[in-house]
Order: sequence, then C-alpha cells, then structure tokens
Amino acid sequence: MTGDPNTRREELLREMGISPVWRLRVAAPVAAAAAAPATVTGLTVREPEAPARPLPAGGPVSQMEWPALKAAVAGCTACGLHEKRNKTVFGVGDENADWLFVGEGPGADEDAQGEPFVGQAGRLLDNMLAAIELERGHNVYIANIVKCRPPGNRNPQPEEARACSPYLKRQIELIKPRLIVALGKVAAVNLLGRDASIASLRRQVHDYHGIPLIVTYHPAYLLRTLNDKAKAWEDLCFAVDTMRGLAAVAAASPG
Ligand code: URA
Ligand code: SF4
Repeated sequence: MTGDPNTRREELLREMGISPVWRLRVAAPVAAAAAAPATVTGLTVREPEAPARPLPAGGPVSQMEWPALKAAVAGCTACGLHEKRNKTVFGVGDENADWLFVGEGPGADEDAQGEPFVGQAGRLLDNMLAAIELERGHNVYIANIVKCRPPGNRNPQPEEARACSPYLKRQIELIKPRLIVALGKVAAVNLLGRDASIASLRRQVHDYHGIPLIVTYHPAYLLRTLNDKAKAWEDLCFAVDTMRGLAAVAAASPG
C-alpha cells in the first residue's frame, strides 16, 4: 500500500475483484446521484416479538445501558445456540458510529475470538470498508443478527433470530447510527421483517424504525460469487451517497 489515496483505492478495488472497467461504469451515475439526497421508501417493519425464552436477569433489555447489555449477552441462554458456542459475539466498534453494518452470525473464527467478522469474510468486509474510506472501530459499528454461532455455519433459524433480536434492537437504539447496511439476506430479512431477495432489496433506501437501511450482499457470498462483487461496489457507492444526503439534510435542519 502506498500513501497515495488513488493508488490505495485501486489496490482495494483489485482486492475486491472489481476491475477498472466496472469502476468506470459505476462511477458516473454515482457522482451524478451525489447531488440529490436519497429518498426513503416506506416499509412495514415488524415489531420484534417476545423472545422465545426468558432473557437473563438484569431488567428489560430495552432499557439496558451498554455494560448491562454486554453482560446480558455474555450470559445469555435464551435460544439453543448457547449450547455449542465458545464465545458470544456482541459486536464491535464505535458506540456512537454513523455507520452500522449488520451480518448474520458468528462463524468459527468469530466464535473462537468473540469478535465479529475476523475470518476470511471479515477480511473482505474490512477491504470493502476501506474502499469507502471507513475503518473498523472509527465511526463504524459491526454487529450480527445472532450473537452465538449456528453450528456448522447454518443460517440462524427464525426463532433464534427472534430470541436474539432485543439485543440488536437495543444496540441500535444506543448507537443511533445514521445508516444501517444489512449484509446479506439473513440480516436484511430480519431487520426489515419481510422475506425478499437481495436482488430485489438492493439499490433502495429502506426504513428500520426511522433509520435508513441499505441492503447488499454478504461478504462470504461475495467470496464465492465473484461476479457480484461489482454489484456490492455499486451498493457501497449508493450507501456513501445516501450518507452524504443524510448529512446534508441534518446540516440543513435546525436543532
Ligand atoms: N459472517 C457473519 O455474518 N458475521 C460474522 O461475524 C462473520 C461472518
Ligand atoms: Fe442468546 Fe442470542 Fe446467543 Fe441465542 S444467539 S443464546 S438469544 S445471545
């Protein structure tokens, strides 16, 4: 890596498997769109349902501050995933971040280390962040739908996602991100409360309890499906434009 931002970006794009041809094709509309603030489309959002089993003592999760919330997750047995986990994976980053990235659930590396996205998919996520000049821990928070590893990396089941949802909901209330990026179908479907494909959900600004939400592919999927890396890059540019629009609206509104 060199200190020159342009060279560095080239290297990151190469790492993401995006050729300069793709970059040129997507760069123009993105620059044009940057002037217009993104519009937010309304969606019916599911109210989180009661957890399948009682959550640990310490008062309602919906009123916990960070220390109690972290302790509650660390000792949680509210769904079957607690049985085989090594470490719970709470989430990591800037607790006042503008950006929140939400994945699916811990894999083997995350389960061993207790931190989200530290394996191969995490390396790609870090490169995706770097491509839009973001860095883990700086104005970025990274979390998952479920805090414990689904055995064999299977998808979390709906009741597991439901049991875990009060924690993420509370994390989002405390972080108050400006924008949420849902990584993959499990994150998108659980946050939006409706079943739909990534292809049908991307390129729009959705709504999560008043917070704009954008959907893109999961990094682990991108590692297997190189062709869709270009689409992921488009989505990241769309997210940057949306964030710029939101920042402009915030700067223009009094108070
Ligand atoms: N995949 C995810 O969805 N989350 C992680 O933390 C790691 C891999
Ligand atoms: Fe608790 Fe969530 Fe882990 Fe299930 S996945 S045991 S609800 S922390």
